[in-house]
Amino acid sequence: MPSVTIDRDDCISCGVCWTSCPEFFEESPEDGYSKVVDEYMTSGDPARGEAPDDLEDCVQDAADGCPVEIIHVS
Ligand code: SF4
Repeated sequence: MPSVTIDRDDCISCGVCWTSCPEFFEESPEDGYSKVVDEYMTSGDPARGEAPDDLEDCVQDAADGCPVEIIHVS
């Protein structure tokens, strides 16, 4: 199960991640930056989440497509 971290302070709200993998990422209604959807968030932290194995490819595609390279998958 991949762990995902978003360096939200450096997000530029381009929308690539929530467009390419809307099952896992969404635009925060509070600040407009990317966040993990509530279902997969870790400890209520919008910057951290655990992706189910069937979303691994889409999460990785989002990380690869992020123009500022702030999505980390481990
Ligand atoms: S792809 Fe990167 S910069 Fe763009 S919204 Fe997602 S986290 Fe932010």
